[in-house]
Amino acid sequence: MQTIDNYDFSGKKALIRVDFNVPLNDKFEITDDTRMRAALPTIKKVIEKGGSPIIMSHLGRPKEGPEDKFSLRHLVGHLSELLGGISVKMAPDCIGAEVKKIARGLNPGEVLMLENLRFHKEEEKGVDSFAQELAENGDCWINDAFGTAHRAHASTAVMAKFFPNDKMFGYLIESELESLDKVLKSPKRPFTAIMGGAKVSSKITIIENMLDKVDNLIIGGGMTFTFVKANGGKIGSSLCEDDFLETAKRVEKLAAEKGVKLIMAHDVVAASAFAADADTQITPADNIPDGWLGLDAGPESIEKMKNVIEESGTILWNGPVGVFEFEKFEKGSREAGNAIVAATSKGAFSLVGGGDSVACVNKFNFTDGVSYISTAGGALLEYLEGKTLPGIAAVRG
Ligand code: AMP
Repeated sequence: MQTIDNYDFSGKKALIRVDFNVPLNDKFEITDDTRMRAALPTIKKVIEKGGSPIIMSHLGRPKEGPEDKFSLRHLVGHLSELLGGISVKMAPDCIGAEVKKIARGLNPGEVLMLENLRFHKEEEKGVDSFAQELAENGDCWINDAFGTAHRAHASTAVMAKFFPNDKMFGYLIESELESLDKVLKSPKRPFTAIMGGAKVSSKITIIENMLDKVDNLIIGGGMTFTFVKANGGKIGSSLCEDDFLETAKRVEKLAAEKGVKLIMAHDVVAASAFAADADTQITPADNIPDGWLGLDAGPESIEKMKNVIEESGTILWNGPVGVFEFEKFEKGSREAGNAIVAATSKGAFSLVGGGDSVACVNKFNFTDGVSYISTAGGALLEYLEGKTLPGIAAVRG
């Protein structure tokens, strides 16, 4: 398979699909450039190997054609800075004769930024002729946008067909896949998944897929109470999805059949209201007083969860185990994070992914203590669900 490392870029114009969908303030200043930094290794490598990077991305959600506030020109200056002062040319569009002329005229080491792909509705529709026009700007295609790899858009997947022998992943996607495959395909045992967050409905497909892979499944957060209620417990006003009571029973049965140890809170921190300053009491998870709601795992459950995590060889964390945004209910998530860091320092591989668990890791400063943090959102969730991602399949062929 072609890779950035084994491909000869000399004199080639390399179309690189990146995810530069960064937040901008009302002065069009970038407020978080993490995504731009993440793409730098790929862009720099192309330059180093004598190629000309042509950057393709979307930005925001333009509705009808070009809109200045979504123009990628707002990013050009900063990209140039991040590349150590190399000047970055801005194209007036992403397709068309003029753009093609600029792209084709690039000298080795020169960088071109194409205008927002989503100024053309054909991008998201994955229209062949649009993908072909994009493809005509370059000699090879690098997909380095894991965040959009679950979309079959022109630039994220369809373009591949115009580069049967000149397509590859960028370093960012390569490292995402390497980390995910370590967890999903060859986990060091025991493998523990911590699935938290609010709702069973949004996590059920991942939970079911994980049951074929893990040794321990910790279910935390608001999801707990659908399981507790399904077993006849009294959950007060805790979050519950009544449509998923049967699903919860099914998950428990499947876990037992597959020999997966299911771990859930048996004591909880109950709150008098969903509020930072609510009154609290520790109660059994299945005997929460009327009007009270479970917002975090209780002390005994936290101990049990920590023991399981610390003994693990591989850990996947998706979703907080309590309402970590409020100090009174953050302990379960903080301690889960501490246990993950401890296990990682003893040699476990830990992967954290999904918006809110990443927010947790940032809030509690665990960033350096875990093995890999995926910021991919939807694409990560679909990968964990076991789905084939169009942007990945397009490169692997
Ligand atoms: P998700 O996006 O599904 O991962 O859900 C994350 C959200 O779940 C966070 O904002 C948490 O505050 C929330 N959450 C965690 N535990 C609970 C709980 N016991 N009750 C209600 N919400 C919760």
